[in-house]
Amino acid sequence: MNQLVYLDHAATTPLDTRVFDAMVPFLNEEYGNPSSVHRLGRKSRFAVEEARERIAAVIGAEPSEIIFTSGGTEADNLAVRGYMEMHAGGRLITSAAEHEAVLRAADAVGEGGRQVDVLRPSEDGAVAAESVEDALERGAALVSIMHANNEVGTISPIEEIAELCHDRNVALHTDAVQTVGVLDVDVAKLGVDMLSASAHKFYGPKGVGFLFVRGGIELAPLIRGGSQERKRRGGTENVAGVVGMATALELALDERSERFQHARELKQHLLDALSSALEGEYRISGSADPQRALPNIINIHFPPVDGRPMDGEMLLLNLDMEGILVSSGSACTSGAVEPSHVLLAMGIANSAAQAAVRISTGLSTTEDAIDRAVEALERVVRRMRRQAAA
Ligand code: PLP
Repeated sequence: MNQLVYLDHAATTPLDTRVFDAMVPFLNEEYGNPSSVHRLGRKSRFAVEEARERIAAVIGAEPSEIIFTSGGTEADNLAVRGYMEMHAGGRLITSAAEHEAVLRAADAVGEGGRQVDVLRPSEDGAVAAESVEDALERGAALVSIMHANNEVGTISPIEEIAELCHDRNVALHTDAVQTVGVLDVDVAKLGVDMLSASAHKFYGPKGVGFLFVRGGIELAPLIRGGSQERKRRGGTENVAGVVGMATALELALDERSERFQHARELKQHLLDALSSALEGEYRISGSADPQRALPNIINIHFPPVDGRPMDGEMLLLNLDMEGILVSSGSACTSGAVEPSHVLLAMGIANSAAQAAVRISTGLSTTEDAIDRAVEALERVVRRMRRQAAA
């Protein structure tokens, strides 16, 4: 078996060993419950509150504005459902390019009898400020638009959208799961009222994330229980998880410019390698403009040739057999692979969207790994095209 080439960092990243080391004491001897008043409990409480301060400092928030969650999905649900439940009247405005965590939370809001406007993204996958402006004319309670798209990497103009919202006294939530730890995410600069993040996207542990909620904003809790997280999220805190998340976020901040530069160089290398290997065979899904897209995500799709679509699932499985681990962004619904809702919303035809490949690089990705991935992709695509034509 070839050595594996992992190019699926937008799905999840490996745990940084420095993060692991910071977590270990809280999985071993420091096992106290932060709610216990004895010394072991107090040590855990201290670690949780210190993690909250460290995270708040990185994103320009107050510690009291950070609610720890079980990840991005819960943070998105808490923002969208928790806000709408507390604020009667007014619509929810979101976009068809959002992650399922926001889309399904929006469905729940709609099922509760509230109006939900789902905006179509532009061809590049971003949500244009103008389309939010038009939707705001109809009156809204909350706008939820993601910072950068997890499938195509396009960045939406959140600062502009924030101004439009605030001029009309409408709250803005952004799902920043793909940007926290990659870009300079500062809640004051972005102007958002709520922001979701997830540790496993930035070399932290899985199953832990946070929601930033600007002071003064009231949310109905999703999970009721004890009075943890100032009664906004019941349940014993994931002490090792939040310590790991704070460490991972600080490392991402300290190393941000090197990481960004590395990703940007790899992206250029990948784009060059793709165009020399498969010129004319594929299209880039999303924005080719580096200012408008994340440096670590590239999504390409393969339109049908002579009316014959490429089988996206076979494409990924063939790449997997070559040791190349990428994803399609498409969801597996009841056994059948459906084309990505994001690519369809961007106006890409079903037949092309079903053959999409998302390549997402990470800290350990090398140019050599990219070359091997592109060679494998070329081999697989040529073989599949030949077989389809036979
Ligand atoms: N939002 C976006 C944009 C994501 O990419 C993801 C993860 O894929 C999530 C939300 C969900 O985060 P989690 O896996 O922590 O629940």
